[in-house]
Amino acid sequence: MNKPVLGCIADDFTGATDLANHLVRGGMRVVQTVGVPDSAFEEEADAIVVALKSRTIAPAQAVAQSLHALAWLRERGVAQVYFKYCSTFDSTPAGNIGPVTDALMTALGCGFTIACPAFPDNGRTVFQGHLFVGDALLHESGMRHHPLTPMSDANLVRVLQAQTTRRVGLIDHASVARGAQAVRDRIAQLRAQGVEIAVVDATSNAELVAMGPAWADLPLLTAGSGIAMGLPRNFGMHERSAAAAQLPAAQGSRAIVSGSCSVATNGQVRSFLDAGGAGFAVDPLQLANGVDVVTQALDWARPRLAQGPVLVYATAEPAAVKAAQQKLGVDAAGALVEQALAAVARGLVREGVGQLVVAGGETSGACVQALRIDRLRIGPQIAPGVPWCHASSPFAPRGLHLALKSGNFGGSAFFHEAFECLA
Ligand code: ADP
Repeated sequence: MNKPVLGCIADDFTGATDLANHLVRGGMRVVQTVGVPDSAFEEEADAIVVALKSRTIAPAQAVAQSLHALAWLRERGVAQVYFKYCSTFDSTPAGNIGPVTDALMTALGCGFTIACPAFPDNGRTVFQGHLFVGDALLHESGMRHHPLTPMSDANLVRVLQAQTTRRVGLIDHASVARGAQAVRDRIAQLRAQGVEIAVVDATSNAELVAMGPAWADLPLLTAGSGIAMGLPRNFGMHERSAAAAQLPAAQGSRAIVSGSCSVATNGQVRSFLDAGGAGFAVDPLQLANGVDVVTQALDWARPRLAQGPVLVYATAEPAAVKAAQQKLGVDAAGALVEQALAAVARGLVREGVGQLVVAGGETSGACVQALRIDRLRIGPQIAPGVPWCHASSPFAPRGLHLALKSGNFGGSAFFHEAFECLA
């Protein structure tokens, strides 16, 4: 078995999938794990992405979890480590980007690393150390109102410096624009000045790809998913290695479980039903009244699976969601629906569903947990940010194809396109 060359630690689940998707498109075979697996791990992969949920937990906990992931990745023999965070640099004044970076550097004996959140495809660019979201500086974007990690300063050198005792500097756009050798020269200059972490300017995919070779000798990279575009080539892989995205043949019947109430998902559910697709609506108020909606949904689905795909959804328009939340409370309504949909997903898989699409980030987390999945092999992309994955589950003896779609991803025909992709 070949050793994986790249070990990634992601601070949330959908961010991990986004990174994995980029690496697969660059020609790497990728397995994503849900936390650090506690069972044997014998997967053929060029890169492993460990998905943590450490973005907003206490810094000491985030450090401990990240170091645990690092130790496990090093046991697998990885040559380079990648700490993945959000492209809007989501962090509190106390961390966790700075403290986790510090701890990983110390553990790896690494004297220099980069901080590069840029993701131009999603409008996240960095210029003179300042992060832009579209055409707005970070602190003037919607991020200033984020409920957990409000960002009030776009100057990332200053933001990161407040989170670490190591000196923070900048690989400026003038160097970046001149390519990998100029970036290497700038790194040498910064190191001579005692800088240990450098924010990297980047305004386009072309720059991220061109800079890639400059990262080859760094034991640790910290970034959003953008720089992943320039990495596979450092390991001799490239986007034409389509075999990287290959999954086992799809089998079993098809289903969709949708708990996202985003504009995009509402459109996708409507479009599926309008095209004559079979759908079962889950009502949170019935759940709260103790009605066994899970059994009803499974009884409804069973005779329809052979003609599949079937859709079980709690997806609703904002007014209906608000009404349920006012009656039940926001958290209680969310948890009730997530648990019900996760039980439906598990029931459907037990009934022979082998190709399952889940819509909604939190809903996906609940389904993965209910299906007791601890790792996913990442396959072909359905829509930007959403690949098909393949997983083992004690409820799916022949394995399971899974697509986990976070709320706003995908066009209106996403459900149809997803299954087309496996046909
Ligand atoms: P997204 O990726 O769009 O944010 P999530 O699954 O992360 O989707 O979040 C959607 C949340 O809304 C979940 O907690 C889900 O249980 C909840 N939810 C789904 N349908 C309803 C509904 N009809 N009423 C109230 N809450 C709902």
